[in-house]
Amino acid sequence: MIEYDFVNMPIVDIVNRIIIYASQHRASDIHFDPREDCMMIRMRMDGRLKDHSKVPKMYEKNLATRVKLISKMNITETRIPQDGAIKGIVDGKELDMRVSVLPTNEGEKIVVRLLDYTQSLDGLNTLGFAPNNYKKIERLLDIPNGIILVTGATGSGKSTTTYAMLSALNTEDRNIITVEDPVEMNIEGINQVYVNSEIGLTFANALRSILRQDPDVILIGEIRDSETAQIAVRAAITGHLVLSTIHTNSALNTIERLLDMDVERYLLATALNGIISQKLARTLCPDCKKKRPTTSYEKQIFSKILGQDVKEVYEPVGCEKCNRGFRGRIALHEVLFLTDKIRELINDENLEKEELRKAVYDGDTTTLLQDALQKVVDGYTTFKEIYKAVDIDFDLEKSIRKEVQKEEKEKAKQEKLEVIDLYDSKDSKVQITAKEMKKIKTKAKEDAETKYKKHPVKDNDLIDIFEEMNEEDKDKKEDKESKKKKEKEKK
Ligand SMILES: [Zn+2]
Repeated sequence: MIEYDFVNMPIVDIVNRIIIYASQHRASDIHFDPREDCMMIRMRMDGRLKDHSKVPKMYEKNLATRVKLISKMNITETRIPQDGAIKGIVDGKELDMRVSVLPTNEGEKIVVRLLDYTQSLDGLNTLGFAPNNYKKIERLLDIPNGIILVTGATGSGKSTTTYAMLSALNTEDRNIITVEDPVEMNIEGINQVYVNSEIGLTFANALRSILRQDPDVILIGEIRDSETAQIAVRAAITGHLVLSTIHTNSALNTIERLLDMDVERYLLATALNGIISQKLARTLCPDCKKKRPTTSYEKQIFSKILGQDVKEVYEPVGCEKCNRGFRGRIALHEVLFLTDKIRELINDENLEKEELRKAVYDGDTTTLLQDALQKVVDGYTTFKEIYKAVDIDFDLEKSIRKEVQKEEKEKAKQEKLEVIDLYDSKDSKVQITAKEMKKIKTKAKEDAETKYKKHPVKDNDLIDIFEEMNEEDKDKKEDKESKKKKEKEKK
C-alpha cells in the first residue's frame, strides 16, 4: 500500500497522484470507500480490486470534495447519488473518467472509472480474435445492411470491440451516427449523440431523428428495451448497418432475448447478421509463466472440446513486472454468422430451443469454450481463468468427471492399488488412492511425533493416534513376515 503525506501535501496533488498512479498501472476503476476508521482507496487492475492506500478519517471529506469538484458535481450535496465526469490530460495522456458518488452509512463512496479506448483505435486485429473469428467479422462488416450485436456482461470489453468495429468502418464514404448513453469515446469523423432522458431525448427518439439524417452506419449504445430493439431492426431492414450491444451471455440467449422484446420473428430473421459474444480472462505474464503437465480432467476437456491431446499448459508465477503472474486481459469470443438455416429457424413460430442450439453450434461456430481453451493451449491464459469466465455445460462436466474417475481407477488397478472413496456421497469428486492415503498417514504420524517430542505431556488422543499407527505398522510387518514364511514353505 502507498502512504500519502496528508499533512504536508495539498489534497489537490494527492488526488492527482492517485489518478496518475491508476492510469500508469492501467487500473480500470478507483474506489474511495468510507469505513469506520478511515477511507480505503482500492484500485481494480485486470479485473481484481486491490488495496491502494488508507486515508485518515479527518482528510476523507476534503478528498471527497476535491474529487466531486473536478467531476463537476454539486459539492454541497452529500445525501443523494451523483454522476460526473473528469476529462483532462494527466501525465501527458488524455484521460476520460466517469465518476459516481453514492451516500452510504459511513459517508460518500466514490468510484472513478477510467475509460481507455486506445485499444479500440489500435484496430480489430489487436483484440485477440482467433483467425476464423476475425474472418467472420470482416465478412460481417462488408455487408452494407443488417444488425451486428456484441453481447457480454458489464466490463466484458464489449464497448472496446464495438468501437474497434466502428473505427474500421470509419471511412470518408460513410455517414456514421451514434446514439449513446453516455458517449464513451470521441471518434473523429463520427457524429455522436448523447442520450438525455431528462429532456426527453431517449434512445428511441434520437434514433427516429437519426434515420432522417441519411446514415450508412448507426451505432446504438445498448439495446435495453423493446422500443429500441424494434427501431434497430427497422433501421437494419431499410438499408442501414446497425451496430449495438446487448446484455446477454451467448449468441443463443441473444436471439431469445430479442424475441422476448417483441421483435417480429420475420423481421429479426431478416435483419440480424451476426452476434459476437465475449468475456474477459486475465493474460499470463509472458516473463514469468511456467509450464506444468495437464491433469487428467483438463486432458479430457481438451480432447472432448478441441480434439487435441494437450500434455502441458502454463500456470502463473509472479514477478516484478506483473500482478501475481498476470498482466492485462484477453477477450474470449464466440462469433455467430447467421446462416439461412438459422434465419429459417428464427422465423419458425414453433421454434424449439434445442433445434436452434444445434443450428447455432453445429455449423462452423467456434464456441466460447473452444476459443477459451485454445487460448489456454496457446499460452495466453490459464485453465482456471477460463473456468471462471466460461460456463461449462453441466452434463458435459459430469460425463468428464466420470471418465476421469474411471481412468484413475483403471490406473490404480494397474498399479495394484485400491481406490478408496473418501466420502460416501454419489457425487463425490474426491477420490484417493491407497498410495496417497499412505502419504497422508505418514505425514500425520510425523506431525504427531514432532508434537509429542515438543510436548511430552501425556496426551491421550495423541497417544491413541500413535498406537493406532504403530499397530498398523506391526500388522503390516506381520503380514509381510507371514507371506515370507508361506513363500518359504512353498519352496
Ligand atoms: Zn511476471
